[in-house]
Amino acid sequence: MGKLGIYIQVPFCQTKCTYCNFHTGVVSAGRFPPYADAVCREIREHQALLRVAGVEWGEDNRRAAAECKVVDTVYIGGGTPSLLEPALLADMLSALRESFACSWEEVTLEADPETIEAEKVTQWAAAGINRISLGTQSFADDELKAAGRMHRRGDIYRAVAILRAAGIRNISFDLIAGLPKQSRENWLASLYELVELSPAHVSVYMMEIDEGSRLGLEVLQGGTRYSARDLPSEEQMAEFYENAQAILKAAGYQQYEISNWAKPGFASKHNLKYWKREPYLGFGAGAHSFSGTQRWANAHDAAAYVAAISTGRSASENVERVSREQAFEEELFLGLRQLHGIDLRRIQREYNVNLEEKVDRLASAGMIEREGELVRLAAAKLSISNEVIVELLR
Ligand code: SF4
Repeated sequence: MGKLGIYIQVPFCQTKCTYCNFHTGVVSAGRFPPYADAVCREIREHQALLRVAGVEWGEDNRRAAAECKVVDTVYIGGGTPSLLEPALLADMLSALRESFACSWEEVTLEADPETIEAEKVTQWAAAGINRISLGTQSFADDELKAAGRMHRRGDIYRAVAILRAAGIRNISFDLIAGLPKQSRENWLASLYELVELSPAHVSVYMMEIDEGSRLGLEVLQGGTRYSARDLPSEEQMAEFYENAQAILKAAGYQQYEISNWAKPGFASKHNLKYWKREPYLGFGAGAHSFSGTQRWANAHDAAAYVAAISTGRSASENVERVSREQAFEEELFLGLRQLHGIDLRRIQREYNVNLEEKVDRLASAGMIEREGELVRLAAAKLSISNEVIVELLR
């Protein structure tokens, strides 16, 4: 039986990091309880709300309704959901237990290191949270400061000690390659400190420069604020990524996705659902959902979301049926992000598309590797994955 993943979005932060291009806001703590109430209501009334929005959930959706009744993964992301009172997070998890058959294997909370306190962590664990995704980003204080982060290197060590003392072993660290002021020495030092702390899981993200963030806009406009002139070059970033691959591999981590590494048995069960195109339901402002045949997202604006849900209206927008062509493109984009690769025979059977010739050409050019019917990106080409995938789709 397929299992269902649930995502809950908490779009609030203490400050806005300079590089952040997410739809998150800095609001007073008084806005948290009404938001949590709206999420609980959306969870409890999800069937009626989805029906009103035009989503076929629990009706004629074969994969979602018939196979995915049991929720086995929950991911509370943001934003900084660890800012919320633990009781509010516990309320959301209780609403899930009341509304779905639950057999939870992985319940993740995204947390920033400076928000970790012993009392809070005890309550998180009691509520069922068993995995923490820690927004470490870097171990270099000058990088953290330049990026507008609230925590410093010392907070990471303090947080990990508290989490482990509370029995939470499944900890994931995020690192960002390409932060302002990041030197090769700093980057290597961050990687070695991370390996020393030995989290179960690691995500390494490449800095994105676009107009969605203050830093990105400054760079694009040629300005100097936010240390915009102190960014590593694209070549340096590619080298940082290769450093991460080598150091994490030597430390016993298995890379299972372009941005993700895990100790054996600790690959993120929830995130794998996204890459495998398995159904998931999202609750909260801006949360995305996928039923197997339709995709949709809630309104991004937290106030608009709360106003809709608290008056019994659906917050879902852009309900879209996934066409066969889109599904095929998703299979390639998402499938090839995974180091395991894609099964050529299955793709050809399900989509009636013959990729043999392109695969052979890209394999001879060293872009992809083929092992029987399995096709995967060549390890050295992971940092330019999009170019390879576009070539395959051409
Ligand atoms: S903590 Fe994360 S979501 Fe919040 S502003 Fe920083 S990068 Fe954005």
